Amino acid sequence: QEKRLKKWFIGSIDQGTTSSRFLIFDGTGNPVASHSHEFQQMYRKSGWHEHDPQEIVDSVATCIEEATKQFVAMGHDVSDIQAIGITNQRETTLVWDWETGEPLHNAIAWPDTRTMGLVRELRGLEGADDLTELCGLPLSTYPSSVKLVWLLRNVEKVKQAYDDGRLAFGTIDTWLLYHLNGKEKRTFVTDSTNASRTMFMNLHNIKYDDKLLKFFGLDRNKLHLPKIVPSSCPDSYGSIGFGPLKGVRVTGCLGDQSAALVGQQGFTPGSAKNTYGTGCFLLYNVGEKPVISKHGLLATVAYDFGRQRKPVYALEGSIAVAGSGVKFIMNNFGFITHSHKISDLAATVEDNGGVVFVTAFSGLFAPYWIDDAKGTIFGITQHTQRGHIARATLEATCFQTKAILDAMEKDSGHKLSELAVDGGMSNSDLCMQTQANIIDIPVNRPAMRETTALGAAIAAGFAVDIWKEFDELKQINQKDRTVFNPDISEKESTKMFRRWSRAVEMCRGWER
Ligand code: ADP
Repeated sequence: QEKRLKKWFIGSIDQGTTSSRFLIFDGTGNPVASHSHEFQQMYRKSGWHEHDPQEIVDSVATCIEEATKQFVAMGHDVSDIQAIGITNQRETTLVWDWETGEPLHNAIAWPDTRTMGLVRELRGLEGADDLTELCGLPLSTYPSSVKLVWLLRNVEKVKQAYDDGRLAFGTIDTWLLYHLNGKEKRTFVTDSTNASRTMFMNLHNIKYDDKLLKFFGLDRNKLHLPKIVPSSCPDSYGSIGFGPLKGVRVTGCLGDQSAALVGQQGFTPGSAKNTYGTGCFLLYNVGEKPVISKHGLLATVAYDFGRQRKPVYALEGSIAVAGSGVKFIMNNFGFITHSHKISDLAATVEDNGGVVFVTAFSGLFAPYWIDDAKGTIFGITQHTQRGHIARATLEATCFQTKAILDAMEKDSGHKLSELAVDGGMSNSDLCMQTQANIIDIPVNRPAMRETTALGAAIAAGFAVDIWKEFDELKQINQKDRTVFNPDISEKESTKMFRRWSRAVEMCRGWER
C-alpha cells in the first residue's frame, strides 16, 4: 500500500494573502517539490488592501512551472500527477467582465476596511439582524458581500457592467480556475467553503439565498455568481489549460482555513486547529449541523466532500492581525530584518514588562468585533525595550486565541483539550509556548507545516480515489510533532489575560 501511495502524486495550489505556492505531495502526504512566490500588497489608501488579479494568476502559473521542473528533475513523470487541489485566501473579492474576462478592479483583499462606513449603514437596515441566522456571518468589513457593494457604489465601470448584465463576481478560487482552465474550457464555480464566506450563501442548504442577495441590493439576473459545488469533486473544476501540467484535472477546492482543518485531519466533531498566517484562524469542527454563534464567532462550512457525504460545519474565530503584526514590526519599525528574528528579539527580555499591544490595525475581529479600534500599545515606560514590544506583538495573537476559545466553549459547551497549530507564525517556539501558557492546554505542532496545501491535496485525492476513507489518512503528517505544554501557573496566565481584556476595552470608540 505504502509503495503504491508513494507513486501517486497530487499537486496543490496554495494562493495565500502574501504568497502563492505550488506543492506536489505523494500519496503518503509527503511534499516532494514546491515553489513559492511573494506578490505585491497594495495599500493605496489608509485601510485599503488590494492585490493585482493578473499578478495572482501569474504567480500561481510561475509556481506550477518551477515546482514541476523540480519534480521532473527528480526523475518523476508529470503523468504521475493524478489531480490538483486549490486552496486560497478567502473573502477577497474580484469582479470581471463576463464577456472578456478582464478584471474591472483590483482584488479587494479580506483585511481591507474601506467598507467600515458602509457596514455601519447596512447595520441600520431592516433585516440586518436576521442575516447571521441565514449565513452564519455577522455584518462586518470582512465578507465579500460588503466589498462587492462598495465596488458597485464607487467604481463606475463595475456599476456599468452590472447594469449591462456583464458583471462576474468571484472569490480567488473562482478567478484562478477561470483563468487556469484556459480560454476554451473555462469553469465558473466555487466550493461551498469559499461560498460560505461571501454572505450570499444560505448555510443550511448550501445555496445562494435571495433574501441575502436582496438585503445587499443585488439582482441575481444582472450578476454572474459562480456555481457552488462540493470541495472534492471529480468533474466540476475542469483541468489546467496550459503550461507543464496542461490537462491535469483539478478535483479539490477549499478556502485556506478549511484546507488547514482537513490537512490537520480535524474530521471529528470537537477537533480544532489554529493557523497563524497573515491573520489567525481557529476552526472548530461541530459536525453535520451548523451552530450559529451567540458569542461572536462565525459559522461556516468546514468542508464538503460530496458524493454521499454531508457537508461538515465549523465554528470559526478570526483574528485579523497575526503574522502581519510581525511584518509590521519589521517593515514599519525596523526592529528586525526577517520575520523569524522576532523570537530572538522577544527572548532578549524575560516578559512583556507590562506592555500590551492591541494589534487592531483593521479593527478587532472575533470575538470582539470592534471595527473602529486602532492598533494601540499600552503600558510603555522608560524601562520599555524593543524586546517588550516584540513579545507583546506575539502575545496579541495568543490572547485573542484565548478569547476565541472561551467563546467556543460557551457556544459548544465543550472545552478543548489540545490545540493543533500551523501557519508561518507557528514556527516561533516562543510564540507557541506563550500560546500554551495563555490557554492552559497543550499546543501541538506538526513538523510539516504546509497543512493548508496538504488539505487541498487531500480534497483532490479523495475525488480521484487515492483515498476513500478518512481513516486511511491517519498516518499522514504524524511524525515528529512538537507539543508545547503550559509552564506557568493558571493565576499568572489569568492575570495576563485580564490586563489584555482591559486594553481591548480601552481601544473602543477611537474613531468617534
Ligand atoms: P499566509 O498564508 O497568510 O500568506 P503564512 O502561513 O505563509 O501566511 O505565514 C506568513 C506570516 O507568518 C508572515 O506574516 C510572517 O511575518 C509570519 N512568520 C513567518 N515565520 C515566522 C516566525 N518564525 N516567527 C514569527 N512569525 C513568522
